[in-house]
Amino acid sequence: ERRKLDAYRTVEPRTRDNRRIEIAANLGSLAEIEGALKAGAMGVGLFRTEFLFMERRSLPGEDEQAETYTKLAEAFAPYPVVIRTLDIGGDKPVAGIDFEHEDNPFLGWRGVRMCLERPDVFKPQLRALLRASPVGNVKILLPMIADVGEVHAVRALLDECRTELDAAGIAHGAFELGVMIETPAAVFLAAEIAREVDFFSVGTNDLTQYVMAADRLNPRVAKLNRTEHPAVLAAIRHAAQAAREAGIWIGVCGEAAARPDLIPFFVENGVSELSMSPTSIPRAKKCVTEI
Ligand code: PEP
Ligand code: MG
Repeated sequence: ERRKLDAYRTVEPRTRDNRRIEIAANLGSLAEIEGALKAGAMGVGLFRTEFLFMERRSLPGEDEQAETYTKLAEAFAPYPVVIRTLDIGGDKPVAGIDFEHEDNPFLGWRGVRMCLERPDVFKPQLRALLRASPVGNVKILLPMIADVGEVHAVRALLDECRTELDAAGIAHGAFELGVMIETPAAVFLAAEIAREVDFFSVGTNDLTQYVMAADRLNPRVAKLNRTEHPAVLAAIRHAAQAAREAGIWIGVCGEAAARPDLIPFFVENGVSELSMSPTSIPRAKKCVTEI
């Protein structure tokens, strides 16, 4: 069985009606690149940048981040790498960011909300991403979007960053900008948001928790925390329809992206990229070829 799945590692899977589906990797550090390439990752669908900021005494600088993102982009080029901007909140301490105690950190000052109020943290990351984009296929992904204004605010900061890099004579390249679909607000606003971005990526872990109002870490409510719940599937269908109507692509990068029972649902609704932990990649590729 294992040997049979191994044969799928190098496959670029298509459905029986010939739709190409990209099977990409969720990564949390550069150390995982090799394993992902071996598993057959067609790029990175979610690079979590939190590790760069954790377990250290000060914030990472722009140069250090640019080097990390450049290595990642080079390793997977010409496949895309979707790099998510810092998604951290009061549940995880970071030296250099003052998180106050919150009763509900999952509903609190985190992700893009924090970043937009701390340009001293956010802009070095954005400039580093712009600097990495000439060497590969870099796509920037924004977490926890709940309002169209947040997208506008990030675009304004990106414009500032480009001007600053130009003034300093530092090269930067083209990039796509996308948002995580992981709050109910982003689902309800999907049509408006789709006009402002190049892609959606459904974060089924948080989308399930927020749609069902069931903490993703609390085993007492695990019964409700199910991505296959009709309410969550309806939310995903709605976001996918908005993406289709706006002519942008949509991927899935939560744990559910690897589930053989849900992959046909995602693909039938127009999802063109599924991103998962590398070990799940061969099985997901096989699954796509059977749709
Ligand atoms: C998600 O919410 O589904 C997701 C992919 O992001 P994270 O698990 O890092 O919150
Ligand atoms: Mg999330």
